[in-house]
Amino acid sequence: YAAKADRSGVVVHTPALDRHDPARLGLFGDLRRGIRDGDLRVHYQPKATLTDGRVVGAEALVRWAHPQRGLLPPSEFIGLAEATGLVRTLTDVVLARALADCRDWRAAGRELTVAVNLSARVLLDPTLPCRVAALLAEHDLPAACLELEVTESAAMQDPAQALDVLRRLRGLGVTLSVDDYGTGHASLSYLSRLPVSTLKIDRSFISTMEVDGTGQVIVRSTIELAHALGLRVVAEGVETRCTWQRLRTLGCDEAQGFWLARPVPAEDLLARVAAVETRTGVPALTG
Ligand code: C2E
Ligand code: MG
Ligand code: MG
Ligand code: MG
Repeated sequence: YAAKADRSGVVVHTPALDRHDPARLGLFGDLRRGIRDGDLRVHYQPKATLTDGRVVGAEALVRWAHPQRGLLPPSEFIGLAEATGLVRTLTDVVLARALADCRDWRAAGRELTVAVNLSARVLLDPTLPCRVAALLAEHDLPAACLELEVTESAAMQDPAQALDVLRRLRGLGVTLSVDDYGTGHASLSYLSRLPVSTLKIDRSFISTMEVDGTGQVIVRSTIELAHALGLRVVAEGVETRCTWQRLRTLGCDEAQGFWLARPVPAEDLLARVAAVETRTGVPALTG
């Protein structure tokens, strides 16, 4: 079983995190080996604009093809990677894979962007902007193809350091967004002073929209406030057509969620994008 930590790097102390715990040490060894042996997989979830239903990008979501336990979701190993520092190598692997896949989609005629999630530990690393710049150059991609997602708690952990790294990433031309918005303690006014352009409203707010009025009030006012501050808004966790349509009425900019598509391997993404656009009503191109 995995250690529990959120992306802010705040580790919830469970017995699994005891340094002397053989299960944890075993998993750590497995993960280090797995990363080295190329056992990480990256799946992609499309993101579409609510105005015209077009897919504009995809979020990279890591999985680990464990030799005995099968394909593991991030909840099983990201906490451990963060607690042990392996997350830095893991992120470099995901970034390289995501940029290579993004280049393939573009070569196939779809100008999609790709989004990569960053843990606090990775965001606070002063060498990150240089590594990102080198990877973009290596893959011959403009920085605008890459979006980096950070949580509010990661940005709050060491605000001065986070701001410095975010500014340098923004300086490269990378798009920055705040992930899981609403689950941390950052105010919108603080976030609006960061060089971020997008707010992703956490799934927990989106899923309660249909069941209670409060959820909808929160989502509506967040969209209005974010727009007033010049931020784009993405809704995560859109699971029904009803929610998609409601978000459209509320003026939300983009959406992601199982109703559009679940995360898929890179080679399936373009077919999935076409299916999403059929569902959202984008007229198919002829010829
Ligand atoms: P996240 O960045 O907020 O990503 C969205 C998560 O919600 C994904 O889970 C996705 O599969 C799931 N999801 C998307 N739409 C829906 C929906 O409509 N309903 C429901 N129930 N779930 C939906 P996943 O892939 O298990 O990833 C979980 C978290 O792991 C991510 O949350 C992110 O915080 C972290 N993560 C994933 N990949 C990476 C990575 O490469 N690096 C780091 N540091 N963290 C990662
Ligand atoms: Mg994310
Ligand atoms: Mg998210
Ligand atoms: Mg989330």
